[in-house]
Amino acid sequence: MQRKYCLCVDIGATRLRVAIARSDGTILDVVEDRTPDIVLRSEEPTAIAEAILQLGERLLSGRGMSFAELEGIGIGSIGPLDLRRGVIVKSPNLPKPDQEYPLRDYLQDKTRLPVYLANDCVAAVWGEVTYGHGRDHSNVLYITMSTGIGGGAVVNDTLLLGADGNAHEIGHVIVDTSEDALTCGCGGIGHWEAYCSGMGIPKLIQRELNKKKNIENTKLPDIVKSCKDPRDITVHFFNLLREGDPFCREIFEKICIFNARGIASAIHLYNPELVIFGGSIALNNYDLIMEFRKYLGQYLMRGFRIPEFRLTKFGDNVVLVGAAALVFNTPESLRKFVA
Ligand SMILES: [Zn+2]
Repeated sequence: MQRKYCLCVDIGATRLRVAIARSDGTILDVVEDRTPDIVLRSEEPTAIAEAILQLGERLLSGRGMSFAELEGIGIGSIGPLDLRRGVIVKSPNLPKPDQEYPLRDYLQDKTRLPVYLANDCVAAVWGEVTYGHGRDHSNVLYITMSTGIGGGAVVNDTLLLGADGNAHEIGHVIVDTSEDALTCGCGGIGHWEAYCSGMGIPKLIQRELNKKKNIENTKLPDIVKSCKDPRDITVHFFNLLREGDPFCREIFEKICIFNARGIASAIHLYNPELVIFGGSIALNNYDLIMEFRKYLGQYLMRGFRIPEFRLTKFGDNVVLVGAAALVFNTPESLRKFVA
């Protein structure tokens, strides 16, 4: 008999979030810690797994429960991953980029529970088809627009994983081949993520500021000077855009074009009937982000199906919901890696 609860985990570059979820996908309690701090506090590569155990124990004891009462542990994680070994391999987004982080086998040994690991966006799309807008759909693409841009895809009811679990790095499709194309965090040139993500938008703003001789009627240069974290520039940018700042509008039209190019490429790859957006940029600015649609026709093959577009209904918890779906509705494609 299936048990009622699982532990679900969202490993992000900034935050590690751990929650208890019910088998219907409801997230009950969430605790979190900062991922870079966890990694830097310990010499051990098992630091993240240990933090999951400790946060999980805290949650369970709060409900008078133990690990033995859970159905399993689901994890949606930043990559790259090696699903065969159940580890995060050298991640450029963590403080020790040469270190590997064992997760699955270590947690299985410690808790005696089955542990299901997938990329965070891959987990998210599985959460959508299990519990969210993707129910009753066989071809669904999930796109996160946050610090970075990533994707997860279900094609003909199958969760696509790739050789190692790293399919759908859609943020790294090429959207700009001009001479002053921007360099992505991954080192590549002209990648979508370098223009339209939380870290990318500030780079695009800087390029446009450099090009401009006379900058008037905009507060953007002051914002750029005063922000230490580039992601704050992105937040202010959207606020100024809503206030009607003309220079922000000029830049935003470019963002819409780059989004149209990136999204058209992803649609060509997976032929989805439904595209679901998540991540902080989409969650906070869905109306604005949807403006990419006015340019989509220029980049989509004639006659190609234009999918339905929706915003995730799970908000900030979409990866946690996805991790719960890995446990309660384990995808066949993932089982092959677990066996
Ligand atoms: Zn890239």
